[in-house]
Amino acid sequence: MLTLALSKGRIFDETLPLLQRAGLSVLEDPETSRKLILPTNRADLRVVLVRASDVPTYVQYGGADLGVVGLDVLLEHDAAWGHAGGAAGLYQPVDLGIARCRLSVAVRADFDYPAAVRQGSRIRVATKYVQLARQHFADKGVHVDLIKLYGSMELAPLTGLADAIVDLVSTGNTLKANNLVEVERVIDISARLVVNPASLKLERETLRPVIEALAAASRGSA
Ligand code: AMP
Repeated sequence: MLTLALSKGRIFDETLPLLQRAGLSVLEDPETSRKLILPTNRADLRVVLVRASDVPTYVQYGGADLGVVGLDVLLEHDAAWGHAGGAAGLYQPVDLGIARCRLSVAVRADFDYPAAVRQGSRIRVATKYVQLARQHFADKGVHVDLIKLYGSMELAPLTGLADAIVDLVSTGNTLKANNLVEVERVIDISARLVVNPASLKLERETLRPVIEALAAASRGSA
């Protein structure tokens, strides 16, 4: 039995068409079902629903053989494990090209970010992505105090909690609606397929074709 870890929302919604193209369908809708384990049209493949930030952990420890996860979550997971630049026990064969967005620095429209950087001021930055943000500002030689938040990052500069945020941007509408402007791009993001290395050895015959079919399906949508 192969287990595929997905998170609800954008990852699930954008992975479904790739699965379809690979001849795989999930037999229950996670929005209406309360089940956390969903059957597929193949008796030897099931989907488990986990939080986005738990997908790397499930795959790393073999709770799932493979999973789909945003590069933002994957890098933050790696950095937390001290594996910057190399996945923590995860084989990362395919950029699926879905759930595309970017991780960016944004500030209030009236905050002069370039001037603050030039003057070497300490900038207060609120983010969920503490490790990626720390790395980014260290590379740029910008002095920051990082404040960890778990959501609604856009609120931080509006309430005076922080000068800047590091958050995901897709259309830019959320920033605009909150009178924030993007001032720096940290990294381009898309969803990746991650695979447990032991599963790849032990389940090679069933796993390989699934990986290859998803890779082919994602090339079709690129
Ligand atoms: P947008 O208004 O289209 O720029 O989207 C920004 C909001 O959607 C922010 O709250 C982001 O955290 C979230 N977001 C954008 N893209 C993604 C993505 N690929 N995965 C998860 N969240 C995202």
